Amino acid sequence: KMAERSSHTIFVPEMMEDNKRRLLIANSIASAIKHDEFSIHYQGKVDADEVVVGYEALIRWRSAALGVVSPAEFIPIAEQSGKILQITKWVIKRVCMEFEQILAVQKNDVVVSLNLSAHDIKNASLVGYIKEMFTLYKIDTKHIEFEVTESAYLENFDAANGFLTQLRQMGCSIALDDFGAGYSSLGYLTQIDLNTLKIDKQFVDNLNVSKRSTLVTKTIIEMAKQLNLKICAEGVETREQADFLLANGCHQLQGYFFAKPVSLEELLKG
Ligand code: C2E
Ligand code: CA
Ligand code: CA
Ligand code: CA
Repeated sequence: KMAERSSHTIFVPEMMEDNKRRLLIANSIASAIKHDEFSIHYQGKVDADEVVVGYEALIRWRSAALGVVSPAEFIPIAEQSGKILQITKWVIKRVCMEFEQILAVQKNDVVVSLNLSAHDIKNASLVGYIKEMFTLYKIDTKHIEFEVTESAYLENFDAANGFLTQLRQMGCSIALDDFGAGYSSLGYLTQIDLNTLKIDKQFVDNLNVSKRSTLVTKTIIEMAKQLNLKICAEGVETREQADFLLANGCHQLQGYFFAKPVSLEELLKG
């Protein structure tokens, strides 16, 4: 009884603190855009020759009121409070604005990847915004990939598929992000028109942890190859992981072992 009561008295104030912070974050998003508190970091992806072939755009937030807030914290809050679309539009526009400078310092063709939230995909009007930005900033869509998670397909498969098909028709590529984490359904793989499968970091982390987890990772790679999908492994932190993934036919690798996400300035410096 005592323990129950005391756990209760601890739990309630923490909940309130947590809710307060969530509210504060949700209510700070519009002003963060207005006061230019967001920025984009870019993380390189390499091919089997370990040459940079792309960059993933990852949002960063340095808030005057809250300090540095991680996207792992504020993106879910933005999604739940109906504010993700503002962020997504901001990211798309900013990447388009920075795109020419990024391309200018590349030796090879690169693809810039943008993350879309499952909530964005319900919003058919976003396609028009994306088109508008590509036209305004003269973006050749062969350089653009969108990363989506399977949850995008969960709620309304036809809407998600319609949205992403339009992006494909514009010339962009589509990657299925965090594959294998969460609600994987292999059924989607037979129904959606994808270019790339991004193997979730958890599989990379578990390589050589056990025979079974290694086998599961190998099997995912093999299956993706059979489906003619490009395979990108994320969260590669060691030479050993990279060697294993390349030996088993992964086409692209991304992770701290090769590159951390960096600001535009750092990217341009090389
Ligand atoms: P994600 O799309 O799965 O992105 C990969 C995350 O793993 C990034 O965290 C990246 O910095 C981190 N990462 C990359 N390589 C390694 C590694 O070797 N080791 C470890 N430990 N981590 C690595 P980040 O930037 O904090 O982003 C977290 C999540 O927030 C993203 O996961 C994505 O779901 C979301 N996010 C970030 N930027 C955006 C955005 O512009 N729009 C949307 N909708 N979501 C975003
Ligand atoms: Ca991603
Ligand atoms: Ca991912
Ligand atoms: Ca993720």
